[in-house]
Amino acid sequence: MDIAKEIKKYLIYLNELGFSYIPADENFKKLLKNNTYFSENNLEKIKNAIANCEKCPLCRVRKQPIWGEGDLEAKLMLITEFPDKDEDFYGKPFVGAMEELLEKILKSINLTRKDFFITHAVKCKTPGGRPPEFEEISACKTYLLKQIKFLNPKLILAFGFTPPKIFFDNNPTLSSIRGQPIKIKDSIILFTYHPNYMLKNPAVKRLLWEDLQKFRKFYEQIFKIS
Ligand code: SF4
Repeated sequence: MDIAKEIKKYLIYLNELGFSYIPADENFKKLLKNNTYFSENNLEKIKNAIANCEKCPLCRVRKQPIWGEGDLEAKLMLITEFPDKDEDFYGKPFVGAMEELLEKILKSINLTRKDFFITHAVKCKTPGGRPPEFEEISACKTYLLKQIKFLNPKLILAFGFTPPKIFFDNNPTLSSIRGQPIKIKDSIILFTYHPNYMLKNPAVKRLLWEDLQKFRKFYEQIFKIS
């Protein structure tokens, strides 16, 4: 952290002397990419942008946009759909009965919500809980993509029908991509059904359980856990 601050001070000093750029070697580029000082600054900017966002009509429906919750150093990310009215009220993902259900589901694969940074694909609630529209997803997707870029999770679990719409232009059905590891930049993402959907469609319970077992396997492989 201190090294990053010193470098930044030095660059400002060079800039004041009239240098507009300096050639950077590969090691220096790597340092910039991996240093949390720079990432945290970027994350803070994204957080502020979300907090003040009025890019789509959902800004008139929400009580508050939800940035997410969890350890910024977490190697796992959980992406859920869009805030429901309770999440909108409390300003965090998975509250009340859904929080209990999530803990139960994650416990079945020996994980807890603290292992993840949790965020929504679309950051504001929708009128009456309807699915977000194409324009709303298009306006909002940049936030999630930037969160992934700067948090750099190794493995991502994505719940529901909205997250695939962020990553695929051809709009595949969730049933056609669920349970398969998909590489996106440096992360592996596994799509599956939202636990809330399972409550309304009990037949989905087995499919969700199968996908979670796969997620656990990838988790063990990636983090070399036996
Ligand atoms: S849904 Fe996303 S794009 Fe729309 S207002 Fe909320 S934060 Fe902005």
